[in-house]
Amino acid sequence: MSNRVRFAPSPTGEVHIGNIRTAIFNWLYARHTGGQFLLRIEDTDRERSTPAAIASLLEVMAWLELDFDGEPLYQSSRLAAHTAAADQLLADGHAYRHAKGEGGEATLFRIPWDSDAIPEVCEAGDVRLELHAKTPVAIDFTGVSYALLTKKGKASPQAGALGGFHGLQLLDADGTVLYELDPDIKAVLGGESRQFEGVAAMTFRRRELVYTDLVKGELRKPLDSLKDQVIVRSDGAPVFHLANVCDDIEQGITEILRGDDHVENTYRHILLFRALGAAPPAYGHFPMIVNDQGKPFSKRDGDAYVGDFRTKGYLPEALRNYLPLLGWSPGDDREQMTSDELVAAFTLERVNSAAAQMDVNKLKNLNGLYIAAIALDDFIELIQPFVASQPWAAAADSTTLRTVAELMQSRCKLFTDAADWSYFFTDDLDFDEKAARKALQKDGVAAALQQLSDALAEKEPFDEAGIEAAIHATTEKLGLGQGKLNAAIRVAVTGTNVGAGLYETMAVLGRERTCRRLQFAGDNLCAGSSAQG
Ligand code: GLU
Repeated sequence: MSNRVRFAPSPTGEVHIGNIRTAIFNWLYARHTGGQFLLRIEDTDRERSTPAAIASLLEVMAWLELDFDGEPLYQSSRLAAHTAAADQLLADGHAYRHAKGEGGEATLFRIPWDSDAIPEVCEAGDVRLELHAKTPVAIDFTGVSYALLTKKGKASPQAGALGGFHGLQLLDADGTVLYELDPDIKAVLGGESRQFEGVAAMTFRRRELVYTDLVKGELRKPLDSLKDQVIVRSDGAPVFHLANVCDDIEQGITEILRGDDHVENTYRHILLFRALGAAPPAYGHFPMIVNDQGKPFSKRDGDAYVGDFRTKGYLPEALRNYLPLLGWSPGDDREQMTSDELVAAFTLERVNSAAAQMDVNKLKNLNGLYIAAIALDDFIELIQPFVASQPWAAAADSTTLRTVAELMQSRCKLFTDAADWSYFFTDDLDFDEKAARKALQKDGVAAALQQLSDALAEKEPFDEAGIEAAIHATTEKLGLGQGKLNAAIRVAVTGTNVGAGLYETMAVLGRERTCRRLQFAGDNLCAGSSAQG
């Protein structure tokens, strides 16, 4: 049977990069193994799973070209199946009805008492726990509640499902056995409750649920730390855990690959699979995406939703390339990889179990590489909306825009970088004060810029070579080393100290603009300029 994996988001409006990275990992895994990549929309939260939220999820997937096999399965369409599964669990004694708080009776899945036949459950040795004797130990069909004795003599309240306490004995301070659970288990499961005062210790044979996570390796969980799980709320609505497991059975999922915020759920889900008569699939849990403090990467840390990156001018190819590098690597130093290369290289063995730190600069650089590779006409078309929102947009005639785009494409990391192109279209330069002070406030710069302007006014043709020759001639005449004036020229004509090659930039600006700006800077911004007083 071929692999069947799924992406099972709960659509809530905005798609977080961590979520879509899960989709990408599943997609890569399916395509690498020649399996199926299914989409299941977990839309049972009717308040948040609006049609708009679902549309936005589908749109993000289409934008990233994450094609799924078959039709999406809408979890909400399976309500009857989920309810039937709960009824079956009740009928088989794997679940019970219980009133919790005011809200009426919920259905709870029971961590099984009889777990000998469950392959994932094993005995894990005898345990003795010292208890806070003043806190009573309570035992009923929902489990055992007690308080551990802390080092400081305080009570630390605990509770666990009955199925975790095989061989349970309660002991008083003298070691006398006050109670044994096993001979009494039928009565307790049948509804009787027990309460004991003065319990100083408890002993039991620990049982653990053990599974080998495809990413994290062997994981174990003592059953005495699990609690019975609500699967149908008192209002009759099946909860996530039941719906999720039922649908994974229905869709024949072979590997569940998802974020590691679900590890704790997995222990109970495995038991639910078994109670529903199905073998659980394999599980793999991907590491969190974190900020530089190691905390989950969220909106507070910057752009966290796929839509944010899209509006900023990131290309889908760059995001689809970068996100899997968060937590996975191809095993060599490749970073820019085509989809085919990613598919060929992707294995779960190379997914890291440690948290992955978001690096926006790396993503930006990768985006720049993808932008640089676009055909000029496409680049112009894609950057057009970003140009259109600039205050100088009206001055951006198509011929100049094309020349500027050709010059700037290779240094453009984001389409929003178009905002830095202003000096090509308007004389109203936004001077970088620090750069201007450093480059222009030196003796002799005013005169040098004036001389250069004079030289350029006559230079024919006004092209890169001509400009370079005029600059060299001017610096030589003034006894300055080659390149000594470049920083001042650049700030004078562009307002900043970064940009494309200086001569090319000046050629694109044209003679008139260049000379006007050199003169303006010489007259107003340099040491000894009239305007400097
Ligand atoms: N709807 C759940 C989520 O988005 C799905 C978890 C799963 O993949 O099983 O977190």
